[in-house]
Amino acid sequence: MANVERHAYDVVVVGAGGAGLRAAIEARAQGLRTAVICKSLFGKAHTVMAEGGIAASMGNVNSGDNWQVHFRDTMRGGKFLNHWRMAELHAKEAPDRVWELETWGALFDRTADGRISQRNFGGHEYPRLAHVGDRTGLELIRTLQQKIVSLQQEDHAAGGSYESGLRVFQECTVTRVLKGPGGEVAGVFGYVRESGRLFVIDAPAVVLATGGIGKSFKVTSNSWEYTGDGHALALLAGAPLINMEFIQFHPTGMVWPPSVKGILVTESVRGDGGVLRNSEGERFMFGYVPDVFKEKYAQSEEEADGWYSDPDRHRRPPELLPRDEVARAINSEVKAGRGSPHGGVYLDVSSRLTPEEITRRLPSMHHQFKELADVDITAEPMEVGPTCHYMMGGVEVDPDTAAATGVPGLFAAGEVAGGMHGSNRLGGNSLSDLLVFGRRAGLHAARHAAALGEGRPVADDAQIDEAAAEALRPFGVAEALAEALAGAGAEPGGAGPGGGTGGGTDGGTGTGTGTGTGGTVENPYTLHQELQQVMNDLVGIIRRAPEMEQALQRLAALRERAGRAGVEGHRQFNPGWHLAIDLRNMLLVSECVARAALERTESRGGHTRDDHPGMDRAWRKVNLVCELSDGAGGAVALRRSPTTPIRPDLLALFERDELRKYLTDEELDA
Ligand code: FAD
Repeated sequence: MANVERHAYDVVVVGAGGAGLRAAIEARAQGLRTAVICKSLFGKAHTVMAEGGIAASMGNVNSGDNWQVHFRDTMRGGKFLNHWRMAELHAKEAPDRVWELETWGALFDRTADGRISQRNFGGHEYPRLAHVGDRTGLELIRTLQQKIVSLQQEDHAAGGSYESGLRVFQECTVTRVLKGPGGEVAGVFGYVRESGRLFVIDAPAVVLATGGIGKSFKVTSNSWEYTGDGHALALLAGAPLINMEFIQFHPTGMVWPPSVKGILVTESVRGDGGVLRNSEGERFMFGYVPDVFKEKYAQSEEEADGWYSDPDRHRRPPELLPRDEVARAINSEVKAGRGSPHGGVYLDVSSRLTPEEITRRLPSMHHQFKELADVDITAEPMEVGPTCHYMMGGVEVDPDTAAATGVPGLFAAGEVAGGMHGSNRLGGNSLSDLLVFGRRAGLHAARHAAALGEGRPVADDAQIDEAAAEALRPFGVAEALAEALAGAGAEPGGAGPGGGTGGGTDGGTGTGTGTGTGGTVENPYTLHQELQQVMNDLVGIIRRAPEMEQALQRLAALRERAGRAGVEGHRQFNPGWHLAIDLRNMLLVSECVARAALERTESRGGHTRDDHPGMDRAWRKVNLVCELSDGAGGAVALRRSPTTPIRPDLLALFERDELRKYLTDEELDA
């Protein structure tokens, strides 16, 4: 068997963002030995980048808020494709999760009378986002980490070891979920990024909490970790993904300078009064309020501005429409030639708040623009445009337990899980999602492991050998190609010197240098760039059938070439090798996105079809499900699956006239 380090735990959590840490805390609180694995340093996850806040209907700023209103907003934002049970649990449990954070030491901004302050955000009827300036994610992660340290201290006091109950494996990448003879979860396989050593953790319950997929796109707010690993791990383990066509393009990413294109400009800028203008100075969002939202949004600047001080007597500014609407509007303005010099529009807060208010409420944005673009947002507008931001689609889970469909012992929470946000997520609903479903995933993973007792599944050696061979393949590509060519009696012309040593210790880091086609070594960086361009250009914010068909052809070619992604050098911290492994995941997930986007012939939320511009009520009844047709080597297969009918008492929270916009007559009369 391959030379691997081996550990055993009850529960393994893959990912140390908000969902992973909350799951790990819960599993450990149930008394189970828990391991947390993360690709980056402990404390560096996407959650730490979250700026605006956590949505929870605590009603601290407007007492009209409650879980029913939050549920309604979430369903409207997702255009009713959300799994209603997830939206219900989320709306009901989010306040408790925020209060719990406070008892664990989180320091939220306060109202004048000392309660947790809540701010406005797009699509939320009331001020609802608990926040810490524009650095809320940092506080959330700091608090969860602190909780983990305190649990480790308890374990040390009880038994002399800090890591006996809860251990963090940082800078480790999981490449496979291992399974027992009956198809149930048996653990995970991965490698240590720094040393290149391979490892197995035996465990009967695995929680995927790996976040999103943004690195498949060229312009994105996401960082290097978001390569769709958890989505791909689930698929490869036999668990289906749903709603993969729904990707959120956040309306406001930086557009200039090129090195920072895509970096997020928080929605709090608009929540706190910032407005969008085109190159003619027009506040253009008034022209883009869709019919389904017409009654709730202001028709004039005066009415919109009045809302900030007197929300009960004014309707909301259209800048605070759900993100999909604002992103499409910006896209249209730029296309119509009314964009800013660098291809965006203007977001102005300088004429709306005093410099002191801006630096107090939006310190990170002030710093970000000053440092990265030499723009002082207290004195001039920002240039912004859409950026790939969030994945609504993901692992199909049971709403109550977070168990993945079809693979006993596999759970998923956070951005990697599908269903909760339907076709479009409201800002702030991710951080609350992480806490609500992270806790549920940890709880049910622990119960699953505990119920098994001693009879735990074990992965056989052949599976581990296969996983090891797959992980190390990029080192042997050049040699394998040369041998194949020699066997065929040809010269190995064109193959770059990218063979590497398959784990030796000499040489530097880097990638294979052959870049041609037809049997040459492929450079992982080149493949990644091509993939990002394909997804950006052909499966981006506005989609058309011929372009997506072309994308699928290009993805198939890239997948074939990725089989020849080769690297040079050794296994100690070799980024080219890491990327070669990640490519498998990005390509798989991108194919799911393109297939589902081509199939759904309507526009809804984050999925906009130029050739099918309307929302079609019949499509609301359909989830698109992606699976691998025949295991690891198989192609992505797509099927339609009916959505679960919404419970009548939840439907009763809406006016019938509103439901008519989303539900078919047949559903309404049922
Ligand atoms: P993450 O926090 O990304 O954690 C993923 C973890 O998985 C990481 O630890 C990573 O290292 C690990 N991982 C990935 N692959 C592997 C692997 N193969 N092996 C081992 N480990 C792996 N949402 C809000 O609700 N409010 C906001 O204000 C907000 N602001 C945002 C601002 C920015 C700039 C961005 C990018 C997002 C924002 N979001 C916000 C969205 C939100 O932050 C994310 O959706 C959320 O943090 C995802 O959390 P997660 O726990 O699912 O994943």
